[in-house]
Amino acid sequence: MNDIKLAGLKGRDRTLIPVGGKIIGKDFVLIAGPCSVESEAQTVEIALAVKEAGADMLRGGAFKPRTSAYKFQGLGLKGLKILEKAREKTGLPVVSEVLDPRDVSWMCEYVDILQIGTRNMQNFSLLKEVGRVNKPVLLKRGMQATIAEWLNCAEYILHEGNPDVILCERGIRTFETYTRNTLDLSAVPAVRELSHLPVIVDPAHATGKVSLIPPMSLAALAAGADGLIVEVHNHPENALSDKDQALRPEQFAELARAARGLLAYMESAR
Ligand code: PEP
Ligand code: MN
Repeated sequence: MNDIKLAGLKGRDRTLIPVGGKIIGKDFVLIAGPCSVESEAQTVEIALAVKEAGADMLRGGAFKPRTSAYKFQGLGLKGLKILEKAREKTGLPVVSEVLDPRDVSWMCEYVDILQIGTRNMQNFSLLKEVGRVNKPVLLKRGMQATIAEWLNCAEYILHEGNPDVILCERGIRTFETYTRNTLDLSAVPAVRELSHLPVIVDPAHATGKVSLIPPMSLAALAAGADGLIVEVHNHPENALSDKDQALRPEQFAELARAARGLLAYMESAR
């Protein structure tokens, strides 16, 4: 890990990133919303529901990196404008994925956090571009990446001058096929002992199954995650992407309650 200089823990305080009313790295943050922004009605309804349930931020993809070239690719700019509306209505800061280095600077006008997806973790031109803007970056772990490779990617962003990187463990590819990926929860405490950067967990893409999201969310908290990012849909059966891993708003509300309860217990036991 010789090249992990700026992302390394040595001699550095933990990185704290204020977004909305929360400080990522200090306060536990719950990010929730649809995989894809599909329409204004869908996004606003979900945003209001997750806000009511206690989410701190809204997620939603406007540019979608799909395995199939023939599936819904996202609404692009229209989707970002919808996210802006949802933010106006709820006050929730917005997290959305950027796929292309050419979109980084103008997308900053629409989002509060730029997401780099698993498929782009080692897209070095994209990393350099988000390293030059003044917006926090949520860097998902590549599905085939080691922890060292992931931290090296964070290093690229920091090296360009942007200090606000949030790491996100979202499951890695293993021989297991029952789950969509394998949630590498040991990465959470590992990253916390290697780096000062906050680390959150995405149990939706990690498992691909609604039933596994609540237990893995609580396990992530127990492992020391700084937050969770989960997919929520008002009509999962009709979702244009990732329908099998979308919680219904009431399931999310229940998860939010359980997470806050576990956090309170962990604080009291400290
Ligand atoms: C997403 O957050 O919807 C997404 C595409 O995630 P990942 O890059 O982790 O697959
Ligand atoms: Mn998704």
